[in-house]
Amino acid sequence: MALTGPPAAVPGRENPPDRRPAPPPAGEATPEGNRPSRPGRSAHGATAEPARPAVPPAVARTRVSTVLAILAISPLMRMAALRYAVPPGLPSRTGCDACGAPIGLTRPWPALGPAARCGRCRARVGPPPGTVELAVLAAAVLLVFAGPSGGALPALIWWLGWTIPAVLVDLAVHRLPDRLTLPAAAGTWLLLGVAALDADPGHWLRAVIAGAGLALFFASTTLLLGRRGFGLGDAKLALSVGALLGWYGWPVLLLGLLVAFGLSALVSLGLLAARRARWSTHLPFGPFLLLGTTATLLLPT
Ligand SMILES: [Zn+2]
Repeated sequence: MALTGPPAAVPGRENPPDRRPAPPPAGEATPEGNRPSRPGRSAHGATAEPARPAVPPAVARTRVSTVLAILAISPLMRMAALRYAVPPGLPSRTGCDACGAPIGLTRPWPALGPAARCGRCRARVGPPPGTVELAVLAAAVLLVFAGPSGGALPALIWWLGWTIPAVLVDLAVHRLPDRLTLPAAAGTWLLLGVAALDADPGHWLRAVIAGAGLALFFASTTLLLGRRGFGLGDAKLALSVGALLGWYGWPVLLLGLLVAFGLSALVSLGLLAARRARWSTHLPFGPFLLLGTTATLLLPT
C-alpha cells in the first residue's frame, strides 16, 4: 500500500536523542537507515527528554507537508475498508449498495472522500464520514511528531496502512479479512528483517517468535473456547502485532497487550453500564490491538 514510503516520509525524527537544532538536510533525507537503531528506546526514551528546542521553520513545514502527504492516501484506505466490509462468504463490494454505481480509484470522489456518499445516488457508502481521514490524520501526526526512532519505523508505517482499514472492517462486520491482515504481517516481518540488517539480528528473531507465539496463543483460544475465544482474524493480526511489539523487547510486548486488554475491559464495562451490551456480546478485538500497539510504540510511557 502507498503508506510504505521510505523513512524519508517521516522527517523531523532525525535526531530525537541528541536534540541538535541542525538544519534539515538537503532533500529531507532521513538518516534513519544509516543510524544504528535503538530498539527499546522509543517507548521509554522520550521520558528522558527535557523541553524540546524550537523547531526550525523548514523542519516544521516539512512535517506539515508530510502529514498532508500521508493524508492524501486516505482514499486508498477508505476503498479497502469499503471493499472488505461485507459478511463472510459474500464477494467484496465493488460499488454502491443502493444504485450499483462502481466505486474505484478511477473516480474516487465523493465515494472515497470524507463525505462517504455515492456520486450517483448520494447514498452513504463505506465507513462513516470522516472516520478514515481522522484515523489517518491521527496516525500521521503521531508518526511525524512522536514516531519511534530506529529502523522499525517503516514496518510500523506499513502495518498502520493495512491495519487501519482492517480495523474499520472489524468494527463494521466483526471480521478481519485475510487480504488485509496477511499482507500487514508479511510486510511487517520483511521490513523488520531489513531493519535487522542494520541492527542486532536478535531483534528480528525475537520479533518473529513474538508474532508467531502470539498468533498461536490467539488461535488456540479459538480452538479451545470457540466463539468465546479470539477469532482467527485476531490471530492473523497478532502475527504483526506481536512482531512489532516484540522487536522492542518482551516488556514492550507485555505492555502493549496489557494496554489492549485494559482498553477492551474498560470499553466492555462502559457498554455494560450503559446497557449497550450484554455479557454475551462479542466485541471486536482488532481495534484494541491497533490502539494498544500504537499507544505503546508511539506515546511516551
Ligand atoms: Zn449509489
